[in-house]
Amino acid sequence: MRILLFGARGKVGSVLAPKLEEAGHEVHAVESGDSVDPAGHDVAVDFTRPDAVRANVEACLGAGVPCVVGTTGLGDDVLADLDALARERGVQCFVAPNFAVGAVLMMRLAAEAARSLQKAEIVELHHEAKADAPSGTAKATAALLPGEVPIHSVRLPGLVAHQEVLFGGPGQLLTIRHDTFSREAFVPGVLLALERLGELSPGVTVGLDRLLDA
Ligand code: NAP
Repeated sequence: MRILLFGARGKVGSVLAPKLEEAGHEVHAVESGDSVDPAGHDVAVDFTRPDAVRANVEACLGAGVPCVVGTTGLGDDVLADLDALARERGVQCFVAPNFAVGAVLMMRLAAEAARSLQKAEIVELHHEAKADAPSGTAKATAALLPGEVPIHSVRLPGLVAHQEVLFGGPGQLLTIRHDTFSREAFVPGVLLALERLGELSPGVTVGLDRLLDA
């Protein structure tokens, strides 16, 4: 595939670009300030910033180029606008707050645990440069659990991306934890999204979960 990669020199993009090429894709790197013509590309992948992603994705969908979006911090209102644009243009826009397969399993296991242990809190821990808080993964996990689930955000040097879902019951604690130690963890999920994108309906599809069993 001819891939337009927004954020190619970022922490995720710089790991992703060579892996996409190894997988046989042609990567056209885009950094902030570059002028871009999406025409002629099969797909755009965005790992940029919450304040940049919307314009990038709108430009690509508007040009009829489907998108795979890893950038977090997109609100429901923005997703609804992107969904309307993607449907109008008849193209797919796949958005995942977490492309690590283990993190998706953590969310599934948390939803299962909540059937028996209703009282939960989430602790998400990320590197200090992360722009948004709470993380997209923490918000997506909370949405799967009943009631209002408190989320605690930790930002410290040395961390990559980590999350614990804690379930308390009388005399017991269940902890479900996922650790991302390097950005390579996101590569298989992005490759899966690229492989399956064409099978999705036009519009926005959210969550790697939607691709794992399909
Ligand atoms: P990062 O290291 O800050 O990289 C972002 C890159 O995007 C930078 O090189 C930045 O360039 C560039 N950029 C900014 N605006 C741009 C624009 N308009 N067009 C093209 N490039 C632009 O951040 P990161 O850690 O790689 O994370 C990127 C995003 O992915 C964040 O939102 C993060 O939360 C998210 N993320 C998602 C997942 C997932 O699995 N879904 C996993 C990890 C991270 P400048 O420095 O010049 O501005």
